[in-house]
Amino acid sequence: MSKPVRKVVIAGNWKMNKTRKEGRALAERIKTIVSKPDGLPEIILIPPFTCLQEVHSCIEKSPISLGAQNMDCHDSGAYTGEISPLMLVDMNVKYVLVGHSERRQHFGETNQTVNLKLKAALAHGLHPILCVGESLDERESNLTDRVVGRQVAAALADVEHKHLANLIVAYEPVWAIGTGKNCEPGEAERVAALIRSTIARLYVQAEQKGGQVDLSKVGVDLLPVLYGGSVKANNIEAQLNQENIDGALVGGASLDGEEFIAIIEAGRKRLKERSRQATAAL
Ligand code: PEP
Repeated sequence: MSKPVRKVVIAGNWKMNKTRKEGRALAERIKTIVSKPDGLPEIILIPPFTCLQEVHSCIEKSPISLGAQNMDCHDSGAYTGEISPLMLVDMNVKYVLVGHSERRQHFGETNQTVNLKLKAALAHGLHPILCVGESLDERESNLTDRVVGRQVAAALADVEHKHLANLIVAYEPVWAIGTGKNCEPGEAERVAALIRSTIARLYVQAEQKGGQVDLSKVGVDLLPVLYGGSVKANNIEAQLNQENIDGALVGGASLDGEEFIAIIEAGRKRLKERSRQATAAL
């Protein structure tokens, strides 16, 4: 039996872009990649709410999954302008971004609201993509590890261990998002590894605290950790070559079909390489 291979995930966050017609055209273009289905990474399209139906009807018979960019933590009620987890499930959404830095920055989301949303998503069977990352100020003040560690721990407070199987984490340094500044891959790898070990520590039994963490016992060895921040076709490979980076959360470059397909192809190549390594290790 071969060793389980951590999956590779390529997710495209369209942010507040694309009308329904434009969204359908982009989804149709990306779907052409499925004509060669072998070894595809997990592909997730995350359009604005208004395009969910259109994109779903385009990808429903394909291996491409649908994601949403945000949700409220309540099921229903007097929350004008919000969308509930029940509504997302009703729209055939599988994944949901939780705690994207643009939500934290412009819409007042805190570690506490992120935790409420994450728990609500899991309770409804959605797969959250938890976004964490430090600002430029925090990086320059050497606070990266503390900030990211705190974001991860707060988001997962009171989240049962069994839910780790449905979780994806995206390390997105805020200063790299939409700026054209890609985080140096070795540094992204270091923070991705820190995220994995932080989560492992959170779930390790009390008696193991302080000792060496056995990642295989807590399931984080299979948890996908993505990198996000100015990912393009010409810089994705260096990120994917890192041991702890399992894919990318792509913003701007996911709006261009050709560019996004090139990023997916890099993911396909990485997945193939991982499968080969797992077989060779037997
Ligand atoms: C994002 O929106 O999560 C993102 C990483 O954006 P960009 O790729 O444009 O930096």
